[in-house]
Amino acid sequence: MTERINRQWRLAARPVGRFKDSDFKWTTEAVPQLKDGELLVHNRYLSLDPTNRGWANEIDTYLPAVRLGDVMRGGAIGEVEESRNPNYKPGDFVSGLLGWQEYAITNGTGISKLPNIPGVPMTAHLGLFGHIGLTAYYGLLDVGQPKAGETLVVSAAAGAVGSLVGQIGKIVGCRVVGIAGSDEKCRWLTEDLGFDATINYKKEKISEGLKRTCPKGIDVDFENVGGEILDAVLAQINLGARISLCGMISQYNATEPVPGPYNLVMLVVRRARIQGFLVSDYMDRAAEAMTALGRWLMEGKIKYRVDIVEGLEEAPRAVNKLFEGSNTGKLVVKI
Ligand code: NDP
Repeated sequence: MTERINRQWRLAARPVGRFKDSDFKWTTEAVPQLKDGELLVHNRYLSLDPTNRGWANEIDTYLPAVRLGDVMRGGAIGEVEESRNPNYKPGDFVSGLLGWQEYAITNGTGISKLPNIPGVPMTAHLGLFGHIGLTAYYGLLDVGQPKAGETLVVSAAAGAVGSLVGQIGKIVGCRVVGIAGSDEKCRWLTEDLGFDATINYKKEKISEGLKRTCPKGIDVDFENVGGEILDAVLAQINLGARISLCGMISQYNATEPVPGPYNLVMLVVRRARIQGFLVSDYMDRAAEAMTALGRWLMEGKIKYRVDIVEGLEEAPRAVNKLFEGSNTGKLVVKI
């Protein structure tokens, strides 16, 4: 058999601000022979996520920092090409942290076998039926605890997580307000996804937009952005409001300590709660979420978009689409 060559992106430098090409190094190397218990995965789709930026910093987050010189960490879907692990056979599709590379060798720890669901493309396992769907489902329903008739605000609402959160909010009977960075995104939210109202934060002052769209105040905030948006939300929360803190993308590229939020005292005044969460805390409950999301998809109550960038070579530039706001839906690279 001809030797397989692995193509990889390795972390070459700690990024300052947004990723630059020089933060990565392109390497090629022969794929080694498998040892007992291992499987060789040919990666097909790479998931690009805001958390990639945090992993590249020197400081550990909820996972250890990627070491300089290591293959960049990233979620991916791939096909098993060879296996010396009894739980996997060639042709199986798997997902996991397989890295920014064409081939990955793993002993199966942290890897999940993917079902072949007719009509569902593989990329959905990095979005709706992957960590994105799970984040939206439990981050809203478990952490945010929305009730019918309440007002739900979602930031980065046209993104992968946010667009699902808003639609789940509608399913449970909330009035849903989305915050997004373009008129086109806002139109998609109201016209296609059924959001009740939107705020284009690049055109309208957020505090004014929230006053306009949330005349009865805010009961639940699904927070993807932080910073100025979180502060404006805090100023308008209702008694007993819940803020589900999913992420703070406005800060991921900050080069200096970020001030604020200034309005935290509103949690006292309104006896409100702010709670962070990680999708990994909900892995053992994935089946419940996947069943509900699958049912809603079949019933036409949930839609999702996938933004596919062609070529592993593009990953370092493509990841910045998340921070520029130029991704339309779940951002993946087709390897
Ligand atoms: P998205 O598909 O939502 O892409 C990110 C979007 O964020 C961009 O399209 C952009 O949209 C918006 N954005 C970027 N920078 C800013 C900024 N400075 N101010 C306002 N909006 C900004 O990504 P994901 O759905 O993958 O992730 C959304 C959030 O969820 C992130 O914070 C991420 O870290 C978090 N997350 C958390 C998880 C958890 O376990 N807690 C798991 C997965 C994701 P726009 O055009 O509207 O500006």
